[in-house]
Amino acid sequence: METGRSSAIAVKKPSPTPKAIIFQKFGKEALYIVDEVRDVAPNGCPGLAIPQKGPCLYRCSLQLPDCTVVSGTFKKKKDAEQSAAEKAIEMLGIHPSTNDLSAEEACDKLIACVKYFFSDEFLSSLHPLSGHFRAALRRDGDLYGSVPASVIAACDSKLSNLCKLINPKVESNHFLLISYIMSAAARLPEFVVTCEGQLSIWRKKSYPPEIMESSLFQQSDTLDSICIKAMHIPCSLEKAVQPVTLNISSTGYYLDVIAQKLGLADGNRIMISRTIGKASSETRLYFAAPKSYLMNQSSDFVNVKEVAQIEDLLNSRASCLCGQDIYGDAILASIGYTWKSKDLFHEDITLQSYYRMLVSLMPSGVYKLSREAILAAELPMALTTRTNWRGSLPREILSTFCRLHWLSEPVFSTSSIPLKASTESSRLDKKLKFSESVELEKECMSRGAINDLELVGSGSAFKCEVKLLSKSQDLILECSPKEFHKKQSDSIQNASLKVLSWLNQYFKDPDLSLEKLNNSASALDIRIYPENLSKKFALYLSMRNIQQTETQGGKFLKSNSMNMQTTMPDHGVCCLSTGGPDSGVYPSNGCLLFISYSISLVTEGGNTKELLESKEEFEFEIGSGAIIPPVEAVVTQMAIGQSACFNTELPLQELILSAADDSVRVLSLLLSKVCWLEYSISLLQLTEAPEDRMEQAFFSPPLSKQRVEYAVQHIRQSCATTLVDLGCGSGSLLDSLLDYPTSLEKVVGVDLSQKSLSRAAKILHSKLSTKSDVLPYNGVKSAVLYDGSITMFDSRLRGFDIGTCLEVIEHMEEDEACLFGNIVLSLFRPRILIVSTPNYEYNVILQRSNLTSQEDDPDEKIQSQSCKFRNHDHKFEWTREQFNSWASELAARHNYSVEFSGVGGSADIEPGFASQIAVFRSSLPPEEENHPKDDDLEHHYKVIWEWDSNNLSRSSL
Ligand code: SAH
Ligand code: MG
Repeated sequence: METGRSSAIAVKKPSPTPKAIIFQKFGKEALYIVDEVRDVAPNGCPGLAIPQKGPCLYRCSLQLPDCTVVSGTFKKKKDAEQSAAEKAIEMLGIHPSTNDLSAEEACDKLIACVKYFFSDEFLSSLHPLSGHFRAALRRDGDLYGSVPASVIAACDSKLSNLCKLINPKVESNHFLLISYIMSAAARLPEFVVTCEGQLSIWRKKSYPPEIMESSLFQQSDTLDSICIKAMHIPCSLEKAVQPVTLNISSTGYYLDVIAQKLGLADGNRIMISRTIGKASSETRLYFAAPKSYLMNQSSDFVNVKEVAQIEDLLNSRASCLCGQDIYGDAILASIGYTWKSKDLFHEDITLQSYYRMLVSLMPSGVYKLSREAILAAELPMALTTRTNWRGSLPREILSTFCRLHWLSEPVFSTSSIPLKASTESSRLDKKLKFSESVELEKECMSRGAINDLELVGSGSAFKCEVKLLSKSQDLILECSPKEFHKKQSDSIQNASLKVLSWLNQYFKDPDLSLEKLNNSASALDIRIYPENLSKKFALYLSMRNIQQTETQGGKFLKSNSMNMQTTMPDHGVCCLSTGGPDSGVYPSNGCLLFISYSISLVTEGGNTKELLESKEEFEFEIGSGAIIPPVEAVVTQMAIGQSACFNTELPLQELILSAADDSVRVLSLLLSKVCWLEYSISLLQLTEAPEDRMEQAFFSPPLSKQRVEYAVQHIRQSCATTLVDLGCGSGSLLDSLLDYPTSLEKVVGVDLSQKSLSRAAKILHSKLSTKSDVLPYNGVKSAVLYDGSITMFDSRLRGFDIGTCLEVIEHMEEDEACLFGNIVLSLFRPRILIVSTPNYEYNVILQRSNLTSQEDDPDEKIQSQSCKFRNHDHKFEWTREQFNSWASELAARHNYSVEFSGVGGSADIEPGFASQIAVFRSSLPPEEENHPKDDDLEHHYKVIWEWDSNNLSRSSL
């Protein structure tokens, strides 16, 4: 009975699952990371995918000590994990018996493997290598039947893993691997023949005729000759990468054809890199074995690397593409035998696909490619709301980046802490300085459960650290963000984005001093390990032509930011034209835009115009950095329905050439003529930022209109003739005020946003200049816009009748808001100052209103709140108590009285007004206000635009 049962169990005992096998071998060193992915489709660039909307699937990447495998996509997480484990087992050639082979046993196995390859039955097997064996039998003369050792190394991962057991250096030294194969073959004198100084192997006896016949006639690739495009990548950076055509006749062997392109007699001395791009890719680099290697073949192979470097043969372009050392000229081709079919697989490699591979090595490149907008898209600086993110998500981009640069898969470690409820007043006690836990509470409350303390109390918050390591586990950088997130996946995405953002800066300007690199890194909570960092990327960065980096974008912005009608001096910038009706609706930060655009290469004189990139519909969030700066600068000056056209200098050459369909022609234009880019953009549609959307839809009249009416009421009561709008933004208040009859004669706006100011100038200019010939606009005689920070004093703005500062202070840090309060009441000293800011306590009502979650994906509903506060640009939002204490203290300190009020909602009904307002009044009688004449000349602001009813308007530009 007992025995019966136990034997039944033994029989039933399932074979261990792939995960169990991996666990046996690697224990806790095996790390499974499951990712949510949207349905993905390949997009032509090796290793990259465009996410599309679809059901949520899972993909697992399994990190092992010296490799990482990624599963396909599955509906269930556990299937993804098992599949990753299965792939790892296959890739590493793990068999229960080979688990713990000694070097000696591995050596025996290696010899057995080689022997098997040269056996009768192997010739007709499905193994990719058997295709080479069959092709070798079609080679002529001396070459008949000879198989290059490098294909054995390239086509069989089990074999290279055995070699790694013998000597781990095989991982980084390709030549060593070949030497092991050659010496294994040399140990089989009965079966195979090898020659001194040769890198190929023959079978000693010929195959039996029946095997020959059945194998050779089975395959169909012998029927047609093929012709594929490949790339010749010269070793010397001075020589251009050139397309080459491989003509492979029906009886030829493709390695011999590639060898000829490299100037070799035949394919026996060819070296083959690992595959480039995704796992199923057959794209590889081919190059001639260096002479130094052939000569030293029997001695110490580990030194080959050094010998070759002395000879200065390292091909940096090719080496960067595959992350392996490649020597001399190389051919990049996508061709080879696969498991899938006995036919020879092949694909063209065009100049464009070559440049796309280079672009995908840039930290922002994967993002650009995922958006299919290489020239227009940029890696966003922040993940503001998940719903507004387009293209591949940061975590996926970072993984791809690491894979393409032959780094270990990024290591994420998340930690969570339970959230505890704490009272609002404790924040004030801290004198507006946040401790980390308060920061956390603020962050978490703004995500998902604003002001809902009970709910906050029950959740946890996540923080994620990420490390980048080389394959040999050298630490390159680590990022430990301070922020906590309500969702674990958010913390991972944000940490990934920080790393990518920093790498993006670094790749643009790698030659910064160590101090500057460290500073930029620590601003993103990153610690870098400079030695490992430059060791890893030095080759790639040195090969790139960094001179023409996107400095042009900056130049363009500076000279164009103010006046769009101007034709820009010097080349590189634009002559902009705008067309179409002015809808009066302009994009601002947080807006989601749809534009259509086309970007063409134009030659001097405008004779030739070559379309590079165009999109019918491109969606992005303003202010997130998701589009290149010149486009954003122009688009924020446009209204819906308008179109614009402008030029810029050329961006990086690889970007242009990877966008162009006809890269060859574009390259020849670039080399022969002076060129620039011409952009043509239309603003199709605009979804306003959550805050604006909410203000318009939830309140009638909209909150912004209510604020204007509130200000008008105070202007009338006080008979004010001068008004300064502090933080005037795009001038909406000044613009609206002009429509009311008031006592105002002079209106001034100050802001530090160039974009907003130029829009304000445009709006005020068109309004004032149309009426100025008849009557001063509703009595207003002069208007000025200044560029400056309102935390700095400017004596020209002292002693105004009324100052307004609507919805501005929350855009500053809290200590700056305090500084602003002190400066405005002690130095500017307006008789009346009106300050408005959101009431944090009101958010809970806005949340319930469901207005901000119009997202189509129900899963994302919660996510839509992941934006901090009402607008992601807000640095804080105060409760009534916080605002009252800020304003009261300030008033008392500077001899003002203060009253509280607001717009949206009511003072008497909880939770008060939506926008809370403080009205400060100077307690000093006017004669005691000591306003020295403007002779102490503290002019810190720059006049941006000025209008005077007596003179013609003039702009400072
Ligand atoms: N008052 C406007 C704009 C509000 S948006 C309105 O009610 O529509 C906030 C504005 O404050 C932005 O335009 C921003 O550029 C500006 N701002 C933030 N900090 C500032 C500072 N220190 N000095 C001047 N303007 C500032
Ligand atoms: Mg605001």
